[in-house]
Amino acid sequence: MNFVDEPLSVTDPKVLELVRAEERRQAEKIRLIPSENYVSRAVLEATGSVFTNKYSEGYAGKRYYEGQQFVDPLETLAQERACVLFGADHANVQPYSGSPANLAVYFAFLKPGDKVMGLALPMGGHLTHGWNVSITGRYFQSVQYGVRKDTGRIDLDEVRDLARRERPQLLWAGGTAYSRLWDFAAMAEIAREVGARFAVDMAHVAGLVAGGAHPSPVPHADVVTTTTHKTLRGPRGGMFLCRSAHAAALDKAVFPGLQGGPHDHTTAGVAVALHEASQPAFREYAQNVVKNAAVIAAELMARGYHVVSGGTDNHLILVDLTNKNIPGKVAAKALDKAGIELNYNSVPYDTRKPFDPSGIRLGSPAVTSRGMGPTEMKQIVAWMDRVMSDPSDENTARVATEVRELTGRFPAPGISVKG
Ligand SMILES: *Cc1c(COP(=O)(O)O)cnc(C)c1O
Repeated sequence: MNFVDEPLSVTDPKVLELVRAEERRQAEKIRLIPSENYVSRAVLEATGSVFTNKYSEGYAGKRYYEGQQFVDPLETLAQERACVLFGADHANVQPYSGSPANLAVYFAFLKPGDKVMGLALPMGGHLTHGWNVSITGRYFQSVQYGVRKDTGRIDLDEVRDLARRERPQLLWAGGTAYSRLWDFAAMAEIAREVGARFAVDMAHVAGLVAGGAHPSPVPHADVVTTTTHKTLRGPRGGMFLCRSAHAAALDKAVFPGLQGGPHDHTTAGVAVALHEASQPAFREYAQNVVKNAAVIAAELMARGYHVVSGGTDNHLILVDLTNKNIPGKVAAKALDKAGIELNYNSVPYDTRKPFDPSGIRLGSPAVTSRGMGPTEMKQIVAWMDRVMSDPSDENTARVATEVRELTGRFPAPGISVKG
């Protein structure tokens, strides 16, 4: 048997069984990991297409292999849609994911040993913004800013003082566990003053920016990088947007600087996701994500939980559980058993270790994609409180039954669960 035309059920039932199990898991659970979402059926279809068979090193009109009759218009379409959606001069949809997109920025703008400045990982930043275990903190000098202990927010005066003292060549804004708005104009001004390039990593909030529920960094930054799979609801991938003046250098940094052939099947999925994100319904989605996150934060605070920075402006909520006497990991594991999926997370100035931190991080993108609203958010927080107050197996099992009743009423996009 050479397998060419057999369905997965015949060729590899073991893998199919895992796919079906994962579908069920995603349908039955309340998924609150703020970097995750559900893609539409159309995005799944495009991502699973025959574009996975093609090699297309280079850019449209300048490829190294033949047969680009349909890849060129596909990639150009994705770029055009990105430019229109985000109001950018130029877009590159080839980065394999968010981290490679960020590496391209270093490769285009810096030399090894130059200085980068970003939000520290334990303060809500990303590894690739100069954290010491990342290549970006090893091959470059790195200085890191934080958030204020009393407010949980970035203090622009501190950022400006540090930038003036350290004079980095590259300044990053953006994070993975920061729930407040960024003043992109002020950050750009700081970068300009010290002669740094200004890069914004909007991986978490790209969908909110697309939907008009978050200020856009595009007019202020030299380059904006993003993942395509978080609030933007595309397939796993990366992208950057930039001014025309930087397009050639940044394109060259992606290919041939860092990558070989782009993942054309991902490009197909990204194109579809960008189309979906330009529809009026997506604007409503983005607003609802922010509304739902605000309800979660308010309900948690009403129950005595310490929400870092006292709330949220975006899709995510960071909770310091110290006063509740339950470590983040214990809470996350108990909640997972109850069918509520989030992640344990360090909080700013955490006294516990990163692998056993004081906090949890959660968000509203995936539950909002299922059409859940404020009523469901309140119910979810009530269940979270029940589990964290009593993480016993009997209690988590009771909550899990109620969770499945709720998720059964809100179909998961892209997933039709059969029997
Ligand atoms: C998720 C994320 C990334 C990394 O994306 P990957 O696709 O996991 O490489 C980079 N920066 C920020 C701010 C992120 O949130």
